[in-house]
Amino acid sequence: MKRTVSFSKESSNIFFHILTNCNLRCIHCYINKVQHGSNTLSLYEIEAWLDLFVQKNKKTNLIFLGGEPTLHPELSQAVKKARALGYKSITVDTNGYLFNNILTKISPDEVDFFSFSIDGATRTTNDMIRGQGSYDKCITGIRSAVQKGFNTSVIYTVSSLNIDELRLMPSVLEKLGVDRFFIQVIGIRGNPAKNDSQGMNQAGMQAPRALWTETIPQTAERTAELGITVTYPKVFLDPQDIFECAGLVADNYFIFPNGRVYRCPLCEDFPMHSMMIKENRLLKTGKINESHLFKLNIPEGCVMNRIIQSDNLEYKTNGTPEFRIACCMLKEEILP
Ligand code: SF4
Ligand code: SF4
Repeated sequence: MKRTVSFSKESSNIFFHILTNCNLRCIHCYINKVQHGSNTLSLYEIEAWLDLFVQKNKKTNLIFLGGEPTLHPELSQAVKKARALGYKSITVDTNGYLFNNILTKISPDEVDFFSFSIDGATRTTNDMIRGQGSYDKCITGIRSAVQKGFNTSVIYTVSSLNIDELRLMPSVLEKLGVDRFFIQVIGIRGNPAKNDSQGMNQAGMQAPRALWTETIPQTAERTAELGITVTYPKVFLDPQDIFECAGLVADNYFIFPNGRVYRCPLCEDFPMHSMMIKENRLLKTGKINESHLFKLNIPEGCVMNRIIQSDNLEYKTNGTPEFRIACCMLKEEILP
């Protein structure tokens, strides 16, 4: 069964970067230490910040992120604290290295998912993007987690470098025994937004619309037929679809260790955060911030996409856009 997962007003999603350090140097990494800080939050700060975002009257989903969050020696205590505070679901996103013996410090009852990043169906492609040895390490990590009874998911960030291998992923996932598959589109922020020697950024890393629409839905269907739930971003709106900006209608928070709190992930390369944590208190920032852009109504759909990664837009000869770009938080979900 396929359905569009519109922004839920009943739940809130917390994307919590507890550090920005990482053992890998993926070529598409979106972490930008100038904007996001290079500090590691203490357990005391993590607990205080978790307390700020848990909502008693709403389901709150929490995703621990980094950098590589398992590099944090007290991640297991943070997970337990989140559970005690009443977070509805808790996910740890990891590159698969699973530092600090994390699988032995928490139980499958305490965390809902370990989510592993793989960016190629083959070792060669994945390691070209994520670094030598990272494929084998991640596969070993998934096997350990599955064997210990944890729910697992895999995240595959699609770019022009690896879209050809996406069709090979269903059988890889089936053999590993993962429960969910998240297909993501590369965002032109962090490393991909940096200019090369010709002064061009790597917007070309985004797969073109025709290739995206002929590859992603089919691969998602085939994966779901194997009993795996699949989620992928809508990206290109159909003419009858309604455009909505999650920044206006949903409750998503992207938290960084320097205290910045964004409502839109596409804004993360800029000091446009609409909130800030100072001395463990959540404060609103002044004008102009991301929230002032959310209200702009443009024919291209998402305003931040128009500003920072407009290479995915196409125009008719009369200057109107061929299609609108959806909010990056709008997803299609296919249940097995
Ligand atoms: S594993 Fe994640 S945080 Fe680390 S370099 Fe790769 S994309 Fe960046
Ligand atoms: S991605 Fe675009 S539509 Fe979504 S929250 Fe950001 S600005 Fe709004």
